[in-house]
Formats: sequence, structure tokens, C-alpha cells
Amino acid sequence: MSAAHLADSPRAAAGVQEPFDANARLFERAQRRIPGGVNSPVRAYRSVGGAPRFVRRALGPYVYDTEDREYVDLVASWGPAILGHGHPAVVDAVRSAASRGLSFGAPTEGEVELAELVHDRVRRDGRTPIERLRLVSTGTEATMTAVRLARGATGRPLVVKFAGHYHGHSDGLLADAGSGVATLGLPASAGVPAEIAALTLVLPYNDEAALRLAFERHPGRIAAVITEAAAANMGVVAPAPGFNRTIVDVAHEHGALVIMDEVLTGFRVGPGGWWGIDPDGALDVDLLTYGKVIAGGMPLAALGGRAEVLDLLAPLGPVYQAGTLSGNPLAVAAGLATLRSADDAVYARVDAAADRVVAAVTGALSEAGVPHAVGRAGNLFSVAFGTDAVPADYDQVRAQEAWRHPAFFHALLAQGVSLPPSVFEAWFLTAAHDDAALSRVEEALPSAARAAAAATPPA
Ligand code: PLP
Repeated sequence: MSAAHLADSPRAAAGVQEPFDANARLFERAQRRIPGGVNSPVRAYRSVGGAPRFVRRALGPYVYDTEDREYVDLVASWGPAILGHGHPAVVDAVRSAASRGLSFGAPTEGEVELAELVHDRVRRDGRTPIERLRLVSTGTEATMTAVRLARGATGRPLVVKFAGHYHGHSDGLLADAGSGVATLGLPASAGVPAEIAALTLVLPYNDEAALRLAFERHPGRIAAVITEAAAANMGVVAPAPGFNRTIVDVAHEHGALVIMDEVLTGFRVGPGGWWGIDPDGALDVDLLTYGKVIAGGMPLAALGGRAEVLDLLAPLGPVYQAGTLSGNPLAVAAGLATLRSADDAVYARVDAAADRVVAAVTGALSEAGVPHAVGRAGNLFSVAFGTDAVPADYDQVRAQEAWRHPAFFHALLAQGVSLPPSVFEAWFLTAAHDDAALSRVEEALPSAARAAAAATPPA
């Protein structure tokens, strides 16, 4: 796709010369009434500059801006759109559910079906870690509730998390977090009392010695270790071989629980999420959290795990959690349709698309002489600039030449390819990325790589 094509909006075709004026005006309007003009910081273009593209619609592998310019989408709503945008089975399921009512505040059969489906699907050697599943509305709620449950189950106060991992925006989990917190360069969030922050121990990822030391220093006080199943919010940093097993072994040795956060990886890297493909085998994690793909683009998330732990939740147990819209029937319908459609062939297509884009980006950056490394976990990947070694922790991620990303990003955007506007985010492919969409990415990459090569560090 050429830059000229981007001017081919219906209005431009009609002779109206306003390439990006409408978008800029909308952003100005948004900033007057919405903080920063966006309802989630990762959507802002703070680290790449410029006004975020306002999206009017999306279909298959493409998103369309307010002027109907088409972009190959490598964001996929930050993960949920595993089938591509507007998949007919999902849209039909939501339409049909809407015709029966939007929300009842009462249990529905769909919720039971979704819990059963996850129980049957997250399975390995005949075992599943999901004996019970509680539906909530966001990944943030899922991890927040998982932490509360772990504290309720153990009677202990502390939680271990890893630097650069993102588990949503609950107070205790924001320290040294990835995603937008990393993009904006924040060590933590204002508004989190020191007393709350002190209950979270932040350790370097993939560091067994640091993990063992934390348990030695705080005997009988750590309720849980929470970890992204494979880190993908500081760019993609896979767990070192054996690290997820080490987390489980060390935590259990000391009577703590393990929360595996699969909000991003769940049902994206494979039919059973990362747990289903973890090289360490069927891990005995206690709690798992899901979001994104489980709801196929609607607001729904979940936490699951051992019955003994989940049954501590109200109304059975003393750990409270609730939600007016938890298990919303439209979201459940979207989730069921998405998971039922996401079969082995879908994952094979997403994996193949990821292979193709990784090969193209590596080829283009090498050709342009940009040192880089591709971090990868299944079909999730990201590019670290200015290094030949794939980063293994947050310090190494931050040491890269992140300043090359804005030029790279904007060169792709100008050619109709929409990347995450942050070097700390994964690239997302979908089963709808066909040869035409992937060819456009391949065609756009060489000049983007040259733009990255020509970029200079900030003064
Ligand atoms: N956990 C992980 C691993 C995530 O990637 C995210 C969001 O990106 C969350 C939790 C929070 O989910 P939500 O944005 O739905 O609150």
C-alpha cells in the first residue's frame, strides 16, 4: 500500500483536501472532555508522537479511521480479536443475545456453558487446572480478585510480582508494571499509598535466586506469586526454560499460591493458553486469570483454578467479589462464539502469520543495518532495537534503543500498517491476516526499517 493510497478516503476521492485534519480535530475535541483524549493510556501516541488514529470500524485484519482509510491492524484490540475483526459467528451471537435482553442480574445458561468450555479446553494429559471459573468484567478485576483470594486462602499479606509484568491497574499490582506504565516511564502510580505498595515485592523476571531470597527474607508472609504466563507487556519476554516450574516449586515449598496471569496469552497462543503449551508441562498452578480472547472483544474476564481455593469466594466462602455486569449475556455469547470458532486451524493460521511477519521484520531490519532482537512466546512477539540479545528481564528491555520505535512506527502507519504505538507492547496477528494483508506489511517494512536506521537518540 502506498502513502498515496492513504489519501484515498471517500472525501479525498471527492476532492476534499483534509488528509488528517478531521482526525486532528476529533483529537482536540476529545482532549477537551476526556483526560488525554483517550480512555486507556496505551491508546495515546505519547511515546511515538502525533494524534492517535480514531477508528470508526474494523473488519478482518483491517481497521478504518474516521476518513475510512484502511490499515492492516497489528493491535487486534490489544489481543482479543484472535479471529479477526467482526467475525460473523461472533457478531451473530452478540446480535442474537441482544435480542433476548442486555443484562439480567441473574445467572444464565451461557455462563455455565462458558465455565464448562474452559474446563474442557484448558487440558493437558487429561488434567485441567480449571475446576471452577468465576466471570468478571476486566482483567484488572480478575487479577485483583485472584490476589484477594490468595490472601484469604493463606492468611498472609505479601504478594510477589515481577518487574515489567502488567496485571491491570489495581493498586497493589502497579509497581514496576509493564504496558502503559512502562510506556510512560512511570516507576509506579501516584495515588497508591506506600502502605499498599509495601505489600508487593517486585523481583527481576527469570531470576530464580531473587525468588528464593524473597521467600527466605519473608518466611510465612508471602500469599502468592503472580506472573504473566509469558511476559508480553514489556515487549515479549518468554519465561526462561524451567522458570515457570521453579515459581510453582518455590512458592509451594513455602506454602504460597501461584497465580498465572493469562489475560493476554490465554486462548491466544494456543487453545489452552500458555498453560497448554508451557514447555514445563502441566503446571500445578493454583489460580489462572483470563481476559481478552475469552470474550472476543466484549468486556468480560475470568479467574479460575482449584475448587478448594475458588470456593472461598462469596457466596460459599468469606472472600468477597461481585459485579453488576459480571457474566453479561452479550459478552458471554461473544466469548462462547469466539472460543468455539478458535479451533486448531485458527491457531495454525495465527502462528503462520506471526512466522511470516517475524521473518519479514528481521529481514528488513537486518538489511537496513539495525541491530535488533525479536522476543517471542508462541505467536506473540515484539522487536527490541539496538541489541542482538533477546531481553530476559525489564532492565534489559529498558536498555534497548527504544527511540528507534517512533520513526519505525510512523513509517509503517503512513503506509497503512498499524503497530502498537509503544515498543513495550506485543504485536498481535489474527486468523484473518491473509496473504493480501501480510504482503502489505512485508512491502511496508523495508522503508520503516530504513527510518528506524536513520533515527537519532533524543538530545
Ligand atoms: N493482565 C495482563 C497480562 C494484561 O495484559 C492485562 C491487560 O493488558 C491485564 C491483566 C488487565 O486487563 P484489563 O485491561 O482487561 O483490565
